[in-house]
Amino acid sequence: MKLYELAIQKPKITSPYGYRIHPITKKKTFHAGLDLISLTGNRNLFAVDEGYVQLVHKGNTGYGNYIWVRYPRYNLSLLYAHCKSIKVKKGDKVKKGTIIGIEGDSGLATGVHLHLGMTKIGSNAWLNPTNIKVIADNPTPTPKVEYYIVKKGDTLTKIAKKYKTTVKQLVAWNNIKNPNLIKIGQKLRVK
Ligand SMILES: [Zn+2]
Repeated sequence: MKLYELAIQKPKITSPYGYRIHPITKKKTFHAGLDLISLTGNRNLFAVDEGYVQLVHKGNTGYGNYIWVRYPRYNLSLLYAHCKSIKVKKGDKVKKGTIIGIEGDSGLATGVHLHLGMTKIGSNAWLNPTNIKVIADNPTPTPKVEYYIVKKGDTLTKIAKKYKTTVKQLVAWNNIKNPNLIKIGQKLRVK
């Protein structure tokens, strides 16, 4: 799945990213984003991941009413342009699926659509939104390793109990030859 597909329900690309004849000015211009409409007619505009609202602008020229949202996990900023209305304000935190605005035709637009622009965070260079894939929501967490320094009176059984593991596991992690012989000050992996 592509990231832009999360910005609007069942999107259809009505104008791709790249050079085109501008529908209003009729000049060959660079189209710095994707024009999308929803095949279901749902006009909600959605946040595509956890992020925050970088900028909200209300106007009737160019991109009209528009929203910039930063998505740190992707290192991307997304521009939602030509909105009918905006449901968020600068600094708001959003989650995947948060409704941030309503699709419209404010500014220089021939009809109701979402113009979706994309840059790296902090960059002015446009990127092609069709190239970006969705990152899995729950990547396998990397195991958290923890160590313990053996103190006076410790036994592997006590340490295993303390860290909710087993003597067998401690022996395996630490390559212990004799489980009855651990030394004070010895560093043991316990998680
Ligand atoms: Zn556009």
